[in-house]
Amino acid sequence: EKFKDGLTKTRENISSKVNDLVARYRKVDEDFFEELEEILIQADVGFDTVLELVDELKMEVKRRNIQDPLAVRDIIVEKLVEIYRGDEEEINTLNIQQDGLTVILFVGVNGVGKTTTIGKLAYKFKQEGKKVILAAGDTFRAGAIEQLEVWGERVGVDVIKQSEGSDPAAVMYDAIQAARARHADILLCDTAGRLQNKVNLMRELEKVKRVIEREIPGAPHEVLLVLDATTGQNAMVQAKQFKEVTDVSGIVLTKLDGTAKGGIVIAIRKELHIPVKFVGLGEKMDDLQEFNPEQYVYGLFA
Ligand code: GDP
Repeated sequence: EKFKDGLTKTRENISSKVNDLVARYRKVDEDFFEELEEILIQADVGFDTVLELVDELKMEVKRRNIQDPLAVRDIIVEKLVEIYRGDEEEINTLNIQQDGLTVILFVGVNGVGKTTTIGKLAYKFKQEGKKVILAAGDTFRAGAIEQLEVWGERVGVDVIKQSEGSDPAAVMYDAIQAARARHADILLCDTAGRLQNKVNLMRELEKVKRVIEREIPGAPHEVLLVLDATTGQNAMVQAKQFKEVTDVSGIVLTKLDGTAKGGIVIAIRKELHIPVKFVGLGEKMDDLQEFNPEQYVYGLFA
């Protein structure tokens, strides 16, 4: 239900147009497919994905000798899920350690919803009975530490910090020691999102990762890239840049509730080959959902 609510804008955008299209055409023809392509591209589904989808639809229409546009509408959903899946396995669950500490690093530029996502995930883990600690690794942006502390208080979890401008790797070291001493299960680490200076960002992330890995072999267990769905193609550009800077194990796509172009989830998945693990569907603590392709595609057309 939450998923469906969060997709309202995109659903209204896509399904009202598709319904209108289906109502206007008596017979499925070239023009019909061209209009369909346009609608999906407008919703940021992604050029390649749309072409692949329409090719598949055309084949299916021919194979089953379909004339009725309504019947095409019904197979769009089915095909879109298939295309989304592709031959890559969708791993939307997090790599959580059964024994010992799980370390999750968050990367992403300012304003995308990184702090909010850390807060929401902390809440989710706490609800599951896990002990969570936050590491204030964005020592660069003014106010970032305080903002994380606000979320820490809201959720009721400890925040490990140093002063603004201090070395993020030192913060991580402290945070790991604290997590051990307090028997924490999950350590969620904020980082600075300085994409303007890629070399510095790369160095900083490498150093942070090295400290974590030295303390806990195999960690960080996840590096989650946070992207803002409302920025559309810009989110895609950011993702490509981050991929060059560091290994990303999953994507959190925020503010899906704030855009009519929620098709971007599919484009991101298809073009980047990184699984979308969570989507943000609002500003509240419980507005974070594990991503599920079926629910998502059905949510677009239901
Ligand atoms: P950061 O700079 O990346 O840490 O971004 P913040 O966590 O401060 O978020 C920036 C703004 O986006 C805040 O006003 C958040 O409330 C808002 N925000 C974050 N996630 C979502 C979401 O999923 N949906 C909506 N509607 N707003 C969000």
